[in-house]
This record gives sequence, C-alpha cells and structure tokens, in this order.
Amino acid sequence: MGLDQSQLEDWVQAEGQPAYRARQLHEWIYARSARSVEAITVLPKAWRQRWPQPGPDPIGRLAELHRSTARDGTVKLLLATDDGLSLETVGIPSPDRLTVCVSSQVGCPMACRFCATGKQGLQRSLQLHEIVDQVLSVREAMERRPTHVVFMGMGEPLLNSDTVLAAIDCLCRELGMAQRQITVSTVGVASSLPGFAERALHRLGRAQFTLAVSLHAPDQALREQLIPTARAYPIEALLQDCREYVALTGRRVSFEYILLGGLNDQRRHAEALAQLLRGFQSHVNLIPYNPIDEEEFHRPTTKQVEAFRRTLQDRQIAVSVRASRGLDQDAACGQLRRRIGDPAQAGRIYF
Ligand code: SAH
Repeated sequence: MGLDQSQLEDWVQAEGQPAYRARQLHEWIYARSARSVEAITVLPKAWRQRWPQPGPDPIGRLAELHRSTARDGTVKLLLATDDGLSLETVGIPSPDRLTVCVSSQVGCPMACRFCATGKQGLQRSLQLHEIVDQVLSVREAMERRPTHVVFMGMGEPLLNSDTVLAAIDCLCRELGMAQRQITVSTVGVASSLPGFAERALHRLGRAQFTLAVSLHAPDQALREQLIPTARAYPIEALLQDCREYVALTGRRVSFEYILLGGLNDQRRHAEALAQLLRGFQSHVNLIPYNPIDEEEFHRPTTKQVEAFRRTLQDRQIAVSVRASRGLDQDAACGQLRRRIGDPAQAGRIYF
C-alpha cells in the first residue's frame, strides 16, 4: 500500500509474477480495501500462500484496536502498527462530506500545552502506508467514501514532510482525491515552510492543498506560553515564512487559533490578531478548546467565541469557527490513545 501502478509492477515482477498482476493488486488494495494478499482471490493460490494469515503481510494494513462512535456520528479509530504502537484517526461526517483527520506521527515532540498528544512525547514518524491506511480504515468503518483529509491528528506533519507529501500524492493518484480537499496543519518548524513549498511543487507538480498554521496567539510572549517550541521561532519569522509560502504556491494560508477561556480570547487579543494579519491573504479558523485531563485551561463560552469572531470580522479578517465534533468521545487529539494505550505496552490487543 502506498505504491503506484508502476511500482506495483516492479514488485510483482520481483516476485516472479507477470506485470498484469499489478493491476489486480492495485484494484484490490485501493478500491476493494483488501487486508492481505491471501484475500485477493484472483491471484494464484500458490503465490498467495507465501503469506499465510494471520501473519505479516506485504500490503501493510493496520489492525483496528478500538472504535468509538459519538452521538453526532463522528467515528474515532485506534489503529495498531506492526511494531505494537497505536495511533488515532477520526472520521467526521456531515451531509455533504466525510472528513478524515489523519495522524502523521505516533505521539508528537512539539509539546503544545493544551494538546493531549503533546503530553505523550514522540514515538516515531508514520510511514506512507500507515498514513494511507487511515483513510481506507475510515472508509471501511463508515461505509462511505472520504471526501476530505486533514492532517490534524497526532503529530507534526512538517517533521515528517516527505512522507506527508508522498501520502498526498497517493491519495490523489490512487484514491482519486483532489489536492484541494486536503489540508496540512502545522504549528511551525523554524524555517521549514519555503522548503516544504518547493518540495511540494517538485513532488506533486503543484501545491494546491491548504496549509493551516496553528498560530494560537497574536504575539510572541503569549505564543511561547502555549507552545514551548515557539521560543526557537519568532512569530514574525513564522509570518514571513508564510508570506513566502503564499508567494511560492499561490495559495492562501489559513491560521488556526485555539480559544482558551480568559487566556487568549479577550477583545484585545482579537484586535492584536487583526493588526498582525492585516493585508495578509489568509483565513482564520477559531477552535474552541476541547478540554483535556492534564490542564486547567477553560473552554470559552459561545458568547465569547462569537464576540472574538465579530471583532475579527469587523476588521475585514476572513474568519470561521470550527464546530466541535465528537465531544462525548475523547474529541481532543491524542485522548483516545492516552486512555487505551499501545498494544505493546499493554501486552494485549483490544477488540
Ligand atoms: N501538529 C499540527 C497538527 C496536529 S493538531 C498542528 O499543531 O497544527 C491539529 C489542531 O488541533 C492544531 O491547531 C492544534 O493546536 C489543535 N488542538 C490540539 N489540542 C487541542 C485541544 N485540546 N482543543 C482544541 N484544539 C486542539
């Protein structure tokens, strides 16, 4: 999984099989969600039996450890890697779309204070097939074709950026998604955005996916309080890199702004944010904080959120509020994994 048609051809030929088997593999992996070579009944039995089940299989599907469904239909999956780690992925349905929120790493080294994943440290970056699997797993679990993918699950995509770009390429070519339906969210890794834009242009031909930058504060001092890694990356340098990203890709950037009651959600913060982003080709997405166990932050009231939104709008900033989904089921990124754990640690598999 993750290979395109010609790479699959190389693989089947190395296996001593005729090239046309690659077409069959492609269809069964991407269109029919085959979980093992053994299950692809059009292939010769003798070849399939090289990988008896259960056992390691070259397709590389992840096992489902746990599934929870919230009252609003949001489905959260905990998936297991071959090396006994677990990762989260979420399917968020609405009448006209199904968005998959995918993880790019197991854990995350960025340690943002309000983030449940940040409390777990980094285990490792995900591989290509482990990212693509998340979209297929949600498609199977929800029996519906995903329309949108957001890299807003566990991990910092810019610390696994080549794999993230390969995954975008795979989702577009092999699963028929469009780049415009994909969003990559980053909290900012010093000086990496222009290089990321160039590599995206090189790898994908064009960079039409949306880049979302987790800003969360209108000034350096407050941002450092919430995001420890921001100390190494002044907010002005981040914004300058964003401008360069816009110039290189021709796409506007969106800014995410988590609203923490009493901390960064006051009128003066909205005014400072509007000032900071004046004249910038951007869009601000406000995210009311989803409470996690370890921290004392507060979710702002609906009235506070609306007042913040209006202050930005009155200053000609394009702004929207992200609806919180799946709140009854560990909505904040990293919570489910924290509650259930890794199969390797627990020494058992949960079904
Ligand atoms: N590392 C990337 C992507 C993963 S987090 C990034 O930081 O952008 C995706 C988004 O969810 C980020 O904007 C992040 O700040 C936000 N987020 C994390 N924890 C949250 C919480 N408890 N409540 C609301 N949003 C949260």
